Amino acid sequence: MGKILLIQVCCIVLVSCGESPSNETDDANSDSTGNSTTSIDQVLHEHVAILASDEFEGRAPATQGEELTINYLREHFEQLGVGPGNGDSYFQPVAVTELTTASDAVLYMQGSDYEASFNYGEEMMVGTQQQLPYVTVQGSEVVFVGYGIVAPERNWDDYAAVDVTDKTVIILVNDPGYATQDDNLFNGNSMTYYGRWTYKYEEAARQGAAAALIVHETGPAGYGWEVVSSSWSGPQIGLEAADLNGDRAEIEGWLTLDSAEAIFDGAGLNYQELKTAAAQPGFEAVPLGDIQASVSIENSVRTSTSQNVIAAIPGTERPAESIIYTAHWDHLGVNPEVEGDNIYNGAADNATGTAALLVLADMHMQQDPPERTIVFLAVTAEESGLLGSQWYAENPSYPIETTVANINMDNLNTFGRMRDVVVVGASSSELENYLEDAASVQDRYVTAEPNPERGYYYRSDHFNFAKVGIPALYAESGEDSIEYGREWGAAQAQDYTDNRYHAPGDEYDPEWDLSGAAEDIRLYFEIATRLANSTDFPEWFEGNEFKAIRDSSSSARP
Ligand SMILES: [Zn+2]
Repeated sequence: MGKILLIQVCCIVLVSCGESPSNETDDANSDSTGNSTTSIDQVLHEHVAILASDEFEGRAPATQGEELTINYLREHFEQLGVGPGNGDSYFQPVAVTELTTASDAVLYMQGSDYEASFNYGEEMMVGTQQQLPYVTVQGSEVVFVGYGIVAPERNWDDYAAVDVTDKTVIILVNDPGYATQDDNLFNGNSMTYYGRWTYKYEEAARQGAAAALIVHETGPAGYGWEVVSSSWSGPQIGLEAADLNGDRAEIEGWLTLDSAEAIFDGAGLNYQELKTAAAQPGFEAVPLGDIQASVSIENSVRTSTSQNVIAAIPGTERPAESIIYTAHWDHLGVNPEVEGDNIYNGAADNATGTAALLVLADMHMQQDPPERTIVFLAVTAEESGLLGSQWYAENPSYPIETTVANINMDNLNTFGRMRDVVVVGASSSELENYLEDAASVQDRYVTAEPNPERGYYYRSDHFNFAKVGIPALYAESGEDSIEYGREWGAAQAQDYTDNRYHAPGDEYDPEWDLSGAAEDIRLYFEIATRLANSTDFPEWFEGNEFKAIRDSSSSARP
């Protein structure tokens, strides 16, 4: 089924959702440990069941599923008495361009002693940021640029010894710190932004490359090839660009490890040896003999408008100062190429976080009005590259310099109560002190994420707030299950990653135990309430990469 193009449809589709979730979140009845969360998780269940139903078609931006979702949110914010947060509207239009690359693309590699072709899907994935119906790269010299990083502050430049203008660059995923596990290289095992694939394409474009291909390896990427092939196929959505993204490389894509090794072999080079060399300071880029790359792709291009949903409780004393909760409402929609169940319901990811915005709105409405404004922002197109939050951060409804904090929720815990609260991107800001205080009331402990090499801090919406300097907290339940222990908790998380993450199997299950999610929500509520009635502006810790921009924007505060 084709996607429905929505061009600023103004009519409101009222969702008939059977019984509407109860508006009463039993917030007042918590005991001294703050652990009475029965009705919070009941309300979560009710919202998630609807948001993740097949009727909502996996909530892809600019589809009927979007219409149902955004109107569901607007309706429930209205019922709770929470007003619009974008002037007099609950919606903030986000102009997007949807590109669908034909799946018959073939990548050719040709040298005097080597010739091979690689098929879309199994052997490579290609796409483009250029918002054009056809892009092509022909006979482009191929260069291995190691990790593809230019980091002046670390005295690291993988492009120093080579001019890659119009060439095809092959790039390793993650960064040299992960590769060597050397704490003195980058951030050791913790991924820096230089390790993210988004960065690598940005840098390749700055260097003038025609094509940029990242070698997929499951360890350093943090996910398997199926995640690459499923998330890169089908419609790809970007913010509409006046210059059609002409400054990006024509082709961006991925090679499987097997494909990469074959191409290096074909050039008489050893991939594994060069990979090791690339993690050492002073590495210089290596041309792949006389091999040249050619690939053409055809895209269907459509423009449409998606919406962020914004609701707010105005501050009584300092309304220009705000605390912003975020959760992405979107997920991956429907993939007609998949046989059988092809609806990506995104129940955990992120109907749970979206539902939590409604729960939190309800909890705050039952309190005395806050001194600062509390904003509930459900963003679109997170799965397409954090686009809705990027749009908001570039076009904020509330001034950036007086936005006190962002608290992001993505994929809440469905496995019951946990002793631990995990901070993604730990040791970043003073918000973690607030979290510690709230967690200790619940007799829980705060810990750093177990897999910082996966770069989760750069993979959800809070990152766009951090980029403009706003201290942003992204936490989640850990795996230390109160009822079943740590091993069990870790097994549940692993099972989700292996079998349901970004797959049609991420479906709502009435058996979910949302008591842990409810506890997490209460933590966020405590932090936001405290901040909303304070004059404090929590800061980034010394040495954090976002501190400088916050320091310069905070001078603009009245
Ligand atoms: Zn998510």
